[in-house]
This record gives sequence, structure tokens and C-alpha cells, in this order.
Amino acid sequence: MRYVSTRDTSKTFEFKDVFIKGLADDGGLFIPDALVKYEKNEIKELKKLSYSDLAKKIVYPFIGNFMSESEMSKIIDKSYSTFRKDNVVDFIKIGDKTILELFHGPTLAFKDVAMQLLGNFYEYYLKNENQKINIVVATSGDTGAAAIDAIKGKKNVNIFVLHPDNRISPVQRKLMTTGKYENVFNIAIKGNFDDCQNLVKSMFADKQFSNDIKMSGVNSINWARIIAQSVYYFYSYSLIENTGEPTNFSVPTGNFGDVYAGYLAKKMGLPINKLIVATNQNDILHRAISKGSYEAEKVSETISPSMDIQIASNFERLIYDLNNEDDKQTSLDMKNIKENGKYLIGDDKLNKIRENFLSASLSENETLEVIKKVYEKFSVVLDPHTAIGYGAFDKHNLRGNNIVLATAHPCKFPDAVSKAINLKSDLPKELEFILNEKEDYDIVENSLEKIKNYIIGKIK
Ligand SMILES: *Cc1c(COP(=O)(O)O)cnc(C)c1O
Repeated sequence: MRYVSTRDTSKTFEFKDVFIKGLADDGGLFIPDALVKYEKNEIKELKKLSYSDLAKKIVYPFIGNFMSESEMSKIIDKSYSTFRKDNVVDFIKIGDKTILELFHGPTLAFKDVAMQLLGNFYEYYLKNENQKINIVVATSGDTGAAAIDAIKGKKNVNIFVLHPDNRISPVQRKLMTTGKYENVFNIAIKGNFDDCQNLVKSMFADKQFSNDIKMSGVNSINWARIIAQSVYYFYSYSLIENTGEPTNFSVPTGNFGDVYAGYLAKKMGLPINKLIVATNQNDILHRAISKGSYEAEKVSETISPSMDIQIASNFERLIYDLNNEDDKQTSLDMKNIKENGKYLIGDDKLNKIRENFLSASLSENETLEVIKKVYEKFSVVLDPHTAIGYGAFDKHNLRGNNIVLATAHPCKFPDAVSKAINLKSDLPKELEFILNEKEDYDIVENSLEKIKNYIIGKIK
């Protein structure tokens, strides 16, 4: 399989470039130039596979000559052996909905599903290269923990994680800062998540610096993450589908990565009816899909911080699709978004979006209400992100198999949970020890010079 950039389809790339670079040099996102399509009877056959075996089948066609099939098999088995469930994910049925629990990995959020695999891909790639790379990533809490767990202790790679000082929950912070690994560096930036993200973007844009330190990224635009995430759509469809009824997914959404993975599964032949883009009050995607206006506003901090975004980076992949894979038009649209902060979606394109996507946005109060209602009715505790996915279904009246993606364990967001139901959500036993471990992180000013010097100082 070959890849192109959404902004220039004249050059092709291999999976290796796509994986290590993350973002194309022209600023576009990588996308495969063709997809494997599964027929109905083939999808039926997939039902018999374990999660890991299914992952091998789905992922392999995407990676080309990056590694052999048997090497990839070993890596997938190893990656998913770190999960607390044999088949990685779990399902619970509550009322007319199914909750697809994706948080049984080492850091209690769905991001582990892709990140564990990426960590082992890095290790494999670097083993034979005579170089050391430095991953730099900004986090509002979940990405950093998942990335650290995936990279810790691996050879030839360091990871630097920037989080906003005092603005993530103590459990989120401890999941990042209590490991003792020489290749992990935690940095609390005196600023908010946007400041952290801007620092990382500026470091990437500084070619001298980023080439010097061999900088790499693992944010949600990395295509390898998208492929790994499409697997659980296939897996849950096989287990839950009952004949004739349409299947819908509601996906707590920030950067449009996870829900795009569902769309990818649909493009590969999985008969998904609708994907609901569920957002908090940072509702740029809800406004885009319901009103046709993709327009950034100021980010507000919510009880679902992993969805507090202003621009949904992966949305460019959908724009490229709506433009019938026209790279010139996509470049123009992205340039307009950058210059005017705005993209107006015409009716024909909006209809195309709505064939696949619906959207909903929940206020803070509505989110707390969902946590309360679900707990009172079913004795199940949802984290605030998952609650938004659940509540989004209630704003639409969809018949069939309705599956909510549960993206984080409720214990990561104890303040919101106790506010809603006055209950403390405990960590899984295997992770309780982190509460009493010593933490290790440095506090750095919100300054590009200071953070660059910090990184250079650590890798010399
Ligand atoms: C990252 C994250 C999301 C948003 O996922 P995207 O791929 O950015 O849309 C939702 N919920 C949780 C708990 C997350 O960590």
C-alpha cells in the first residue's frame, strides 16, 4: 500500500515514512491511495478471530514492506498482552445500548490500544537504524500517559511529554510521572494545554532544531494510530451485530481521530449505519456537521479535558474525501481555515457528511446528568467523556445496535464523578500502587527557548 499527502498526491510514500514523520512536509495528512475492501461473507469470517488475530488481519495490508507478517504478528501479540482483558476490550449491555470498554490497557484510556502497538513499531524500526530519536508530545492528560507507557525502557528513543502544570487530574499525572525510566522526561509547563501544543508545533516547525534532535511525534494524526483504532470497530461489530438491524457508534470526539477510524472501517466494507460525533461544549465539529460551519472559537476547559480542542486535526482527512481526493482544493480549504479560521461546507458536501455522520454536543450539566442517570438506573459508572457519547445517542432516535465507545476509566476523572454521584471511583487493583509512588517531573516556563534548552540538556 502506498500513501499520499492530502495536499499533494503527486508524491507517494511508504508506511515507514508515514509512521515516522506523522505529518507530511507540506503540512498535509497522509492517506493510503487505495483500501482493502471486505465483502459481507469475509466480514462474517472475521467473527471467529480473537482480537489480536483480527488486528493482524486488518493491519497487515497497511504496512507494506515495513516488516514481515510473522514479525508483525509477534509485535501485535506482545502489544496486546499488556491489557487486563484477553481480548483487549470488553462489552456491557445497559438498556438498549452497548458500552464498548476500551480502557483496559496500562493507562486506562482507549489511546493505549494504538499507542502500545506504536511503541513496539518504534522499537522494531530503531533496532536496525543507527540513530536515536526523540519523541516530543503535548498532552491534556491521556495521550502523554499512553505514549510514555508505550515508549518507557525502549532502546534508542527518548520521550518528552509536556503537560499543563496543575491542569490535569492527579491520577492522570501520576500515571505519567511515577515510572522510573531513563528515557522518559515529564515537563509541567506553566501554561494551558494550548501553550503546550504550540511549543511542540514550534519545535517541529524549527527544522534546524527538529532535525538536530531527530524529533518525532505520536499525536492523533499519525496514520498508524488510526489503523489500530479501526480494529475495535470490526471486533465489536462482529460480536454485537444481530441480523438485519443497523449498527451505530457514538464516539466521544476531540481531534476526530477515533471517529475517523470508524469511518475508515466503514470504507473498508464494515456495514456501519451512522457514526455519531459526540462533543462537549467545545463543539466545532457539532456545528460543522449540524450547521455546515467549521469555525474555531475559544477553547473552554471542561470536565472532559481530552476533548477540549479548537481545531480537529484529523478533519482534514474528511475534507479531502469531500473534495473527491482533490489535493489542490484541499490545500486551498486548509489555507482558508488557517487564514480566516473558517470553512463553510456547501449543501452537497453536508449531505455527503450526513450519510455517515451525525453529531451532538453536551453541556457540562447534561454530562453530569448522564453520569447520574446511568448510575442510578444501571449501577454503572461512566467517565465524563463516555457519558457524552452515551448522551449523544439520546439526542438522536436511532434504531438498531447502538454502541457507545467508552474511552476512559472513570477513576481518571474523580472530581467529575464525585460531583455527579458523590462516589469515589477506585483505580483497578493493579494500578493502585501509583498513588503512593514518588513523582518525577520538572516545571518549565512557557517559553520556547527554555523548553528547547531543557530538551538539549537532557539528550547531550
Ligand atoms: C483522546 C480522547 C478522546 C478524543 O479522541 P479523538 O481521537 O481526539 O477524537 C476522547 N476521550 C478520551 C478519554 C480521550 O483520551
